[in-house]
Amino acid sequence: MLEAREVTVRAGTCPIIDRVSLRLDQGELVGLLGPNGAGKSTLLRALAGVGTATAEGEVLLDGHRLDRIDPWDKARRLAYLPQDRTIAWALHVREVVALGRYPHRRALAPPSTADKAAVETAMVQTGIAAIATRPAHVLSGGEKARVLLARALAVEAPLLLADEPVAGLDPRHQLAVMELLRARARAGAGVLAVLQELPLAARFLDRVILMHRGQIVADGPPVDVLVPDRIGAVFGVRPLAGVHGGEAWLLPWKIDEKRAESPLA
Ligand code: ADP
Ligand code: MG
Repeated sequence: MLEAREVTVRAGTCPIIDRVSLRLDQGELVGLLGPNGAGKSTLLRALAGVGTATAEGEVLLDGHRLDRIDPWDKARRLAYLPQDRTIAWALHVREVVALGRYPHRRALAPPSTADKAAVETAMVQTGIAAIATRPAHVLSGGEKARVLLARALAVEAPLLLADEPVAGLDPRHQLAVMELLRARARAGAGVLAVLQELPLAARFLDRVILMHRGQIVADGPPVDVLVPDRIGAVFGVRPLAGVHGGEAWLLPWKIDEKRAESPLA
């Protein structure tokens, strides 16, 4: 279980995220939604304990302060996919994915059977097995995104934080990744994914945490959080919504000029 208590991150004196509290349990697929600049990536970094030494408040992993947990132990228990999809090194795809197993390996030991299996499984699940031997730094944007997601999945951590895991993917791969994240949650992992895709959020998530201007403005099931009024107030768009085959669908339809910059009710 991962918990944030009153976490504030500042740029200078100005808070980027302001007294944010949340909880992520194992077994749930939670989405972190909000407009550009709302503070989602900053919050995810704080939750992952990456580059936020200046954060105020507490992040607890299974009840222990994240910044006091041994980094190798943390790396096995908490996988993190950053928003930036740069792959700087001229490594093959399989080698990049295998970096996800690094926290499990003993110094100088060759990869174990479990390491190899985790890498192959993550590549199959993200549809990159066919490009396993290609150099990763020359791949397309969407391919790189799937390689880096596979690296995070290969950790097989009980908690996964993924920053925009479907951004830049084609529709088929977006659906495949959402199904994969849901399957991970059903298998017992706690998954927190930043999403911009309202249709996927409405359909796949167990819970939505909605951010606006550095604060959480709603936290609950998609049907309760993603209501037209709130979508208008936070995103400045008017959605269409309905039910198909027992599943909720939601589509951003029109810019709501009057509400885009209005304060939340
Ligand atoms: P999101 O992921 O929701 O789009 P971010 O968390 O990346 O937003 O950023 C939130 C806001 O904080 C943005 O306006 C961004 O410019 C600002 N910001 C983030 N990091 C810094 C930083 N290190 N210094 C100054 N401003 C920052
Ligand atoms: Mg972001």
